[in-house]
This record gives sequence, C-alpha cells and structure tokens, in this order.
Amino acid sequence: MLSNVKTKPVDVRTKTRADRILDVRNLRVSYQTGGGQVRAVNDVSFFLRPSERLGLVGESGSGKTTMALSLMRLLQSPAVIEGGQVLLDGVDLLSLSEEEMRRARLADIALIPQGAMNSLNPMLKVGEQLRDAVTAHMDSGGKTSREARIFDVLESVELSRNVVNAYPHELSGGMKQRVCIAMGILLKPKVIIADEPTSALDVVVQRQVMETLGRVQSELGASIILVGHDMGLMAQFVDRVGVMYGGKLVEVSPVREIFKDPLHPYTQLLIGSLPTLESKENFKGISGMTPSLLTPPTGCMFHPRCPQVLPHCQVEIPPLVEIKPDRWVACHLYNGS
Ligand code: SF4
Repeated sequence: MLSNVKTKPVDVRTKTRADRILDVRNLRVSYQTGGGQVRAVNDVSFFLRPSERLGLVGESGSGKTTMALSLMRLLQSPAVIEGGQVLLDGVDLLSLSEEEMRRARLADIALIPQGAMNSLNPMLKVGEQLRDAVTAHMDSGGKTSREARIFDVLESVELSRNVVNAYPHELSGGMKQRVCIAMGILLKPKVIIADEPTSALDVVVQRQVMETLGRVQSELGASIILVGHDMGLMAQFVDRVGVMYGGKLVEVSPVREIFKDPLHPYTQLLIGSLPTLESKENFKGISGMTPSLLTPPTGCMFHPRCPQVLPHCQVEIPPLVEIKPDRWVACHLYNGS
C-alpha cells in the first residue's frame, strides 16, 4: 500500500495483480481548445512490473508527456482526465483527494520532468530546494534525519555535500540533472517517471546521468517509466518499450523483440528509419503527417500512412491485444478480424 496515503478499501475489481506495481486502465485525457476537444490520451492501458524499466516512445504530439503528467495528476487546465484508473500498488490515484495525492507525489510516485534542469528555482540554493521537498513530505524523523537523507541522496547521485550551498546557475547541466534525480528519489518512491531526462545534455554527460539514474533505481528497487523518442537510449536502458501514436499505445514488447521483430507497421517504420552505418546518407523517414487530434482519422489512427492498410482499418479501431506472451499490439493484421 502507498506509504503516505490513508488508503480506502480497494474493490476487488480494481485490485492489481501482485506482479504489477502500476496498472493503468483505459486512461482518457482531453484538452478543450478553441477548435474543439482534443483527445491527447485515448483509452490507454498498460502495466509496470516491480523493478521494471519501461520506455514510452512516440513522435511529438503522440501523447507521451500528457500521459506522464496525468499519472502524476499534474496536468493543468484546459487538460482534463476524463476517465480510467491509475492503480499504484492497488490504490487508484485518480480517486485520491488533492491532499492525498500531494502526499503520494515524491513519496510513492515521482516525476523527473522534461527540462528538469530548468525546473530548479534559480533564486534558491539547492539545499533549500531539497529541504522544502523533504519537509513537505516527511512528518517524522526531525531535522537531523532530514539532513541525513539529503546528504545520502546527493551521495547516491555522485554529488558532493557542498552542492547544498550552490545556486543552480553555479552547476553544470549534468550536475543540475543529478540534483533533479536526487529530488526524485528523496523519499524512495516505488515508481519514477523520467520525461526525456537527458535531452539537453551532450552524449557523454547523457550516458553518465543515465547510468546514475539506472543505479539509483536498482538500489531503491523502484520501477521506472522512461519517456522519450531516442530509440538508442531505450535500447540501452529499458526492459520493455511501449510505442504511442496519436494518443494511443500501438505496441508494447520486450526491448530486444521490438528491435528484432517489430509487429506494428508504425513500429516497423520507426525501427527502419533508425540510421545505421550501412544506410549512411540514405535517410528513411515515415511518409505522411502525424494525425490531427482535432479531426483524427476514423478506425486505426495510422491508416492514412500505413503501407499494409486493410479495407476495414478505416472503420474499426484495433484493440491492444496480447498476441503472444508479453507482446501486445493494436493492429488488424494480428487480431484475425
Ligand atoms: Fe495498418 Fe490496419 Fe494495422 Fe492500422 S490496423 S496499422 S492501418 S494494418
């Protein structure tokens, strides 16, 4: 059960399986715009196993960041969570009060946001920012144990204790990102969501930061959702990959299998467009435009761009189904319809 939240009895219908720390069911999120309603996350279901690393990939506008923010209930108006469940260790986060959810953030589920380096307050020293976060959540233990925890997390992300006296502008990009990771793991959450955590860093620092993130996640025994579009990074870091397209999950598979034998036609094109030494100077893109979420295509969202489109793809929405162990795909080529 969540460590800091007074839980209500969980209905047997919402009880998660023991092998799932996070179980997202039929999540729907929309934005009300001047042009009408935009369904940014469209009936998405997936799960995360204890200690697992799951990558969520997709083009800009595929819904992956909206998904990350909605799991934390950090979406701002005009975004609205329309329905579904986000079961964390058996508790539906969407049913918690604002106060209960505030306590669950950091303590049970933490976000390392996109552009995390710029999410630090430039006016406050790092130590004050870490103290604010820990004081807001740790009721017990007193000042000494709070300070000890701050020094522990700084050490675990390979930063010196002196960093507490620095302002963010006095730190390098990699050090700022490590502070953000430290903030994310401060209260030992069960699930860490990292949204493009290294996008602004050069490749050497990126690698070091990802190694740190991976190590602290393993030490905590936490699960992680890595949101991004860098398939190379996914290949090195995650256990399974979920591919999003037009607000929907279209494939979820173990990382090795998705690179060796991608199932969904979009995943096939995505993998096929990755540069190799052999394909030098011969870039392969995916033809066509990403779908408008204001006026989405009927049936399968990918049908206007799909080289394997079937007649009924324009009419019927393919459900995400497990076609063989641990391989989930939403495509009429596989569901026998
Ligand atoms: Fe292509 Fe049809 Fe599969 Fe969609 S459902 S990806 S259009 S084959």
